[in-house]
Amino acid sequence: IVRTRFAPSPTGYLHIGGARTALFSWAYARKHGGQFILRIEDTDLERSTKESISAIHDGMEWLGLDYDEGPFYQMERLQRYQEVAQQLLQNDLAYYCYASKEELDEMREQQLAAGLKPRYDGRWRDSNQSPPANVKPVIRFKNPLGGYATFTDLIKGKITVANNELDDLVLIRSDGVPTYNFSVVLDDLDMNITHVIRGDDHVNNTPRQINILKALGAPLPEYAHVPMILGANGERLSKRHGAVSVMQYRDDGYLPEALINYLARLGWSHGDEEIFNRQQLVEWFDLSSISRSPAKFNPEKLHWLNQQYLKKTDNSRLAELVVPFLRKDDCDVQRGPDLLKVIDLLKERVNTIEELADAAVFFFRALAPSEELKEQFFTLESKPLIVDLMEKLSQIEDWNRESIHLTIKNVVKGHAVKFPKVAMPLRVMVTGEVHTPSIDAILELLGREETLTRMHTQMD
Ligand code: GLU
Repeated sequence: IVRTRFAPSPTGYLHIGGARTALFSWAYARKHGGQFILRIEDTDLERSTKESISAIHDGMEWLGLDYDEGPFYQMERLQRYQEVAQQLLQNDLAYYCYASKEELDEMREQQLAAGLKPRYDGRWRDSNQSPPANVKPVIRFKNPLGGYATFTDLIKGKITVANNELDDLVLIRSDGVPTYNFSVVLDDLDMNITHVIRGDDHVNNTPRQINILKALGAPLPEYAHVPMILGANGERLSKRHGAVSVMQYRDDGYLPEALINYLARLGWSHGDEEIFNRQQLVEWFDLSSISRSPAKFNPEKLHWLNQQYLKKTDNSRLAELVVPFLRKDDCDVQRGPDLLKVIDLLKERVNTIEELADAAVFFFRALAPSEELKEQFFTLESKPLIVDLMEKLSQIEDWNRESIHLTIKNVVKGHAVKFPKVAMPLRVMVTGEVHTPSIDAILELLGREETLTRMHTQMD
């Protein structure tokens, strides 16, 4: 049975890269009817925070990445890491190292000065020195001295590293907390992970992890290292181009299914399919179609994709989503036109829920036009047209799109002007803007009373 995991370090929010890694692991497990496990790698005591743990949960929940087991916390497994480290010590596969920080710094400087790559020189490996008093040792792994660590990455293909390139890495720090490479190995082993799917910033750790697994006589999982995500400028993704929290996308009015679709396409593809839902992703997903080169994050593409989803979303759900945005914009949605009808009128014109709210504000409270617009549209020429229009609007018997349209046309005809000469000042008066859906549809929703009130206000 396939078992995958997402193993974030809780040192920040769930960002685009992490979410994509989680999505791929999740999709692979779901596709194979397997299990997806959440593990919080919280051994970096200085940088791990509770806020980050809940941010990760929020992000996964919002994206609908449900897990079957966990969350497991590494800090709750300290005893297990100790136990296995002791086992390795007993089997002469690990050793205590008493080198002080100063000593190691000096070693590194000398190596650098000699033009060498800095690496621990094994000074406590097979050493007869007696341990210095008052020094708390670390436990180091006895990396094999010869031979190779080899694995076949499901994305990158065969990777081989000579063991003499690898130094004796620390398994347990002097404070008893394991290092990433040790805890991850034991966790993946104990949690029966069959496929380790993670960012390729970890690909250099894998040979070390394989050596530890071999020392434990354990089977190796499959590995799939996913190329990273670059910003549009080809540089590592940063805050400027999307390394923001996935929750920021919610706050900016994106739909989770659109973000999922977009993330799935970041470095993975299924032919030319651009838009697909979660079920299709699960059905189609495979590791072999993951690209070997980095993916580029394209905010415009995501913006476009969100529009595709927004159009298909039913109005009642959009209403639920847009209300908080409208509240923030000081709109009382209880008073004013039917929100569902407002949404129907606007949804094709906007890409995000936030844009939907912005476009809807004038339905719920009058927006004063800018001085520029006033100057442009409220002229001596327009005044008699508007006075006439107000008069005729107040006489409409059945207030609806058609009757409103006819009324405007009547005024246009009566004064022998072009349609915009009437429609534009009217639009600016009731909406405060120039880019809106058709004015008769707006007036119908706004109602006669509100329309005339706003026109009056602007006439004064
Ligand atoms: N905790 C690691 C990280 O956040 C994950 C490593 C892994 O997936 O093995 O980068």
